[in-house]
Formats: sequence, C-alpha cells, structure tokens
Amino acid sequence: NLPPLFKRQLFKVDLSRNCVSSSSEIEQPSFRIMQWNLLAQALSKGGDNFILCPPDALVWDIRKLHIMEEILTPDPTIVCLQEVDHFKYIETELGKAGYKGTFFPKPFSPCLDITPNYGPDGCAIFWKSDAVDVINIKSVIIKEPTGYETNQVCIVIHMKLKQSNNRELFVAATHLKAKKGYDQVRHLQSKFIDKLLKETCGDSPVILCGDFNADPSEKAYKELMSSGLELSSAYTFLSDNLEEPPFTTTKVRGSPLGPVTYCRTIDFVLFSKNKLAVSSILKFPTEEEIGEKRLPSFNYPSDHLSLVCDFQFKK
Ligand code: NDP
Ligand code: CA
Repeated sequence: NLPPLFKRQLFKVDLSRNCVSSSSEIEQPSFRIMQWNLLAQALSKGGDNFILCPPDALVWDIRKLHIMEEILTPDPTIVCLQEVDHFKYIETELGKAGYKGTFFPKPFSPCLDITPNYGPDGCAIFWKSDAVDVINIKSVIIKEPTGYETNQVCIVIHMKLKQSNNRELFVAATHLKAKKGYDQVRHLQSKFIDKLLKETCGDSPVILCGDFNADPSEKAYKELMSSGLELSSAYTFLSDNLEEPPFTTTKVRGSPLGPVTYCRTIDFVLFSKNKLAVSSILKFPTEEEIGEKRLPSFNYPSDHLSLVCDFQFKK
C-alpha cells in the first residue's frame, strides 16, 4: 500500500547544447547513468532528525522497496550511490535484474555511532553486466595534500561499453565532507579527485557523479568545473542559461533553535564535454509535487533526488 514515487518526465536535450551540429557527430547507442545519495538507513533514524517525515516512512522494510523502485524504474546502465549502508540487500536485489556492483565504506562512517546500525556507509557503483565490461576498479580514501586521510572516499571504474563498440569510459562516485564550515576541506578533496582522475583516466571520457555537499558557488564545484578535465554539469542542460537546478536536496531538520530548512543543489553528474553528449535528462519533481513536508516522505525514500541522464559518445 505504499504511495507511488514521483512520476518524472524525460527531457530531450537539443543537440546544439552539446556543441554538435548534426547527429552524425555522435554515436547512436546511448547509455544511462544514475547518481543518487539514497540516505543511509542508520542516519535516517539517527542524527538526521527529519522532523516533518512520518517515522513509519523511515522504516527500512518500507524504504527499501521505494529505493529499489527508484533505481530500477529508469533502468540505468550504471548507478552511482552514496550513503549505502545496506550494500548486501541492494546487491542481491539489483543482482536479480542483471547488475553487478562494488562498495567502498568510509573509514569512520558516522553510521557506526548510531544504534542500531547496519555497518559503515559508503559509496557504491553498480553496472549492468550485459552492457558493461569492467577493466579495473580503484577505490580510494581521499587525502589532504599533507597525506592526511579524510573520512571520504571515491570509487573510479574503468570500463568498456559493449553496445558502443567497446568504447572506454571512466565512471567515478564520491561523497565529499558535509556540513557548514568545511568548504576548505571540500575544496582540497575536489583537488584530490581532480588529480586522481587526471592520473587515472588519461584521454578517455570521464563521468564524475557525486554528492559534493557544496553548491555551485563553492570552490569544490568551481575547481572541478574549471579543471583541465574539461567537464560540464549534465543537469545545467535542463535550463536555458545553463544554470544548475534550484535544488537536489530539500528537507527540514530539527535543531535546538527550531526547524531548519535545507534546500540546496549539491549533487552533480559531471562529464567530459568534448567526448560525451547528453541526450536526455530525467526532470525533477516540482516543489508542489514534493509537498510542504519535503523529503524524505512516503513518496520518496531519500532527502536527495536521483539524477538520471543519457549519454552518447561523440565521434
Ligand atoms: P560528514 O560531515 O561528511 O557527514 C556525515 C553524514 O552526515 C553525511 O552523510 C551527511 O549527509 C550527514 N549530515 C550533514 N549535515 C547534517 C546535519 N546537519 N545533521 C545530521 N546529519 C548531517 O561526516 P564525516 O565523514 O566527517 O564523519 C563524521 C563522524 O564520523 C564524526 O562525528 C565521528 O563520529 C566519525 N569520525 C571518526 C573519526 C575517527 O578517527 N574515529 C574520524 C572522522 C570521523 P549529506 O551528505 O546528505 O549532507
Ligand atoms: Ca545525508
């Protein structure tokens, strides 16, 4: 009797947006990427304090169904996830649909400070095994320039896409340090990722998916967008003037000073703009559809929306 998930429309991106003048400049088969911070089960019941969310909507046996529905409905080729603390469950369920996956936990996951917990949370990447050949998986702890290991991680997968003439692609998933006052840490972490991708991916196309915990005004975002990697942000293609969407997470948390509303754009799909074209984007639900109580809710299992888009290789 679970209420339905939001219905989301697919937005077709104009070719000209991708700086190509004719469809002959791009290869035909497209592949679909999903980026999603699906909300760790332990955090949802622990420190997150989503005061407007009905407690029953946060019961795992309820949430897990909507989580699987949200991932499986758009039928993505590759899925990048953050805050995964139930990897086994997701691996088993996605396995039935033909996916394989890899998980890398945060070194000191805050989930472990919460009772009950289900182990550490971390990043995960899944791929359809009939569409993707994995060449190599690199899972790293993000370091500061001093060598100090932060509590954040990044997974980079080198893969070949079978339906695209075995074209090579690197897909990365990360979740940068959260909270106010950590802009500088996030900036250092984005520099680490920039260097990691330059060293790992060479000239091949890259897609970097993440919850950056940084909005577009922060150095962490600007660093990656202005780097030699030549990345564009897929969801900016939804707007006429290439702006990021108004929000990717929206929630109300309780605090000693009363309710605090968060409505921010901090989740991104960045891609090599010279090597890939975005052909479609799954639109977000509107604020009216989400409702005054925001997220998570009985209609949606996370406080972050999923980002889903289709890519094609440029010739
Ligand atoms: P982060 O600061 O990155 O945040 C962890 C999670 O908290 C994120 O998933 C984030 O979600 C969520 N979050 C963000 N803002 C809030 C908020 N206002 N209220 C509640 N949750 C929020 O975590 P760290 O990786 O730095 O880990 C923090 C904890 O880990 C520490 O409290 C400590 O217990 C432990 N730790 C232990 C270490 C050790 O040496 N033993 C070292 C480092 C950490 P979102 O991304 O969705 O915003
Ligand atoms: Ca969170």
